[in-house]
Amino acid sequence: MTTVHGSCLCKTVQYEVDLPFERFMYCHCSRCRKATGTAHAANGFVKASAFRWTAGADAVKRYDLPEAVRFALQTCSNCGCRVPHHTRDHTWMVIPAGSLDEDPQMKPQAIVHWASRAPWFTDCSEMTKFDTAPG
Ligand SMILES: [Zn+2]
Ligand SMILES: [Zn+2]
Repeated sequence: MTTVHGSCLCKTVQYEVDLPFERFMYCHCSRCRKATGTAHAANGFVKASAFRWTAGADAVKRYDLPEAVRFALQTCSNCGCRVPHHTRDHTWMVIPAGSLDEDPQMKPQAIVHWASRAPWFTDCSEMTKFDTAPG
């Protein structure tokens, strides 16, 4: 078993999670687009027992979307970054992969809510790539 660490942008909230992810997926639903501000979420799922806050648990702010059956998110109350959240039944922890500080040593396996993808979504393989920001 491998344990990796993650944190928010300001490092107030820190956590560790035992891998592997049981599921690792991109989600293109409109709620994930709003929640992430980008084309899709990249979420890993682990059982709640595989997750521990190591700093800043009291700075974690939760939002449960009222009209949703499941949709929720948690953010750092200082920097506003998404951080992991538990599902409403407390069975799973959903880990925003961008909050990891270490390589989870696995790749996403599936794309969900593909039919809901943004009209502007473009596959990365079709785009010009710069190793750093162009001048
Ligand atoms: Zn923060
Ligand atoms: Zn989604």
